[in-house]
Amino acid sequence: MSAKSIDQLRSVIGHNLCNRCGSCVGLSAGSIVFGDKTASYLPEIVREPDTLLADSIWEACPGKNFDFQLYRRKYYPQDTPFHVYTGPYKKIFIGYSRQEDIRRAAASGGVLSSILIWLLEKKLIDGAVVTGMSEAEPWLCKSFIATTPDQVLSASQSKYIITSVNEILPDIEAFKGKLAYVGLPGQIQSIRKLQAINHPSVQNIKYILGPFYGNTLHFSSIESFLRSYGEKNYRKIKKLYFRYGEWPGNMRIEMENERVIELPKFHANYLIPFHILKNSLLCTDLSNEFTDISGGDAWAPVYEERGKGFSMVIARSAQGLEILEALQKEGRMQLDEIGLQEAIDMHSHGYDLKKRGSFIRIRFRELLGLPVPDFGYKLKGFPLSRYLMEIVILSLFLILGSRPARFISEMVPPSLIGKLFENARISWKKSTHNIKRNNLGE
Ligand SMILES: Cc1cc2nc3c(=O)[nH]c(=O)nc-3n(C[C@H](O)[C@H](O)[C@H](O)COP(=O)(O)OP(=O)(O)OC[C@H]3O[C@@H](n4cnc5c(N)ncnc54)[C@H](O)[C@@H]3O)c2cc1C
Repeated sequence: MSAKSIDQLRSVIGHNLCNRCGSCVGLSAGSIVFGDKTASYLPEIVREPDTLLADSIWEACPGKNFDFQLYRRKYYPQDTPFHVYTGPYKKIFIGYSRQEDIRRAAASGGVLSSILIWLLEKKLIDGAVVTGMSEAEPWLCKSFIATTPDQVLSASQSKYIITSVNEILPDIEAFKGKLAYVGLPGQIQSIRKLQAINHPSVQNIKYILGPFYGNTLHFSSIESFLRSYGEKNYRKIKKLYFRYGEWPGNMRIEMENERVIELPKFHANYLIPFHILKNSLLCTDLSNEFTDISGGDAWAPVYEERGKGFSMVIARSAQGLEILEALQKEGRMQLDEIGLQEAIDMHSHGYDLKKRGSFIRIRFRELLGLPVPDFGYKLKGFPLSRYLMEIVILSLFLILGSRPARFISEMVPPSLIGKLFENARISWKKSTHNIKRNNLGE
């Protein structure tokens, strides 16, 4: 069994199905390590783990499968409202932290950090699994267990390069006390699988929170960004922020030589087609469906124009809703309930990417005879125009992800390419509006 599990894991890694959640590394007692995190960031099997380990590693792997319906039934009562796009939800809100320092330091409304800090203060948890920037290597992300509000705040904001939270499963298991856990959908899928088999590594986890998830980028995005500014050595980075300052924030890099490089987030998004982690295009979960509470940006002109940061917040479980209601009652958080359709409309672009695009891409892989992840359900029957649009998107990713295209992108000043990208994105959104919204939400 052991050898089979490891062969299967090799196949997941070799076929672009690995989302780098980190579980195999965390569970392997040193038999599996991440290769170069500034390169492909793939797990490498340095020696065969024993049978028991190999089997639990394989069981925890979300790259091969994650049965959405099975785990929804397991973790959410049957009467929990559900939509195939949003997942289970009790209530959906637009909100923000009423503590200005938290809201300002955070990615959008500071909702996730606020919740963690409140849970710590109320002693409902003893620690929170969060992801900040590494102190030793400030160009890389590092997950850790925060035990104070300041530590939680130090890890706020979204990190748009690859992270592997479950790498620290041994720390989570060894921790004395209750934990809240924050992760991306793939990472949480693995935690849910481990909870389902009562694995000791996750027994301290009492609350699961997570951001919405469009995509992540390879580390090459940082190197390329720096090269565009004439900086050749990422090891000279002193501080790296993905969303510095007031919403939506700037990508900001502070160098050892005191140089500060900053570009508005929307312009820095030009890096996406050049450096996207291809596996994120197979993920079918935008709003982090297996959490107690998930949070995304509130993408609507009415909030975007006001700046400051507004989040969409989905309370999925009873305990998630209780937390939000308590925070609201204590005046720590502003929350205004919205309806399901409004929530879907606000993220129609993202739902199209994940709930249509991903299933089309999975279908294309099947047609090419490539292994695909099994999510226990499939969405199909989209208009032909949507399939054609997907071919255009994939061709663009293929061309722009190539070395020559990346090289050329570095010749253009980021302020210019960023503006061009933002204009192209707006035109693309307008021109594909009907294709993407056709039957969306039905
Ligand atoms: C890779 C990525 C892609 C995203 N894509 C979208 C999108 O397409 N649409 C959308 O509406 N929102 C997206 N978000 C979510 C959005 O950026 C905010 O994180 C969300 O609105 C929560 O904001 P907040 O102010 O409540 O979070 P904060 O209070 O800033 O807290 C964020 C929490 O998330 C954790 N975290 C941050 N980055 C990571 C990471 N990479 N891996 C694991 N944990 C992490 C931090 O440790 C922190 O605890 C994305 C986030 C990430 C990290």
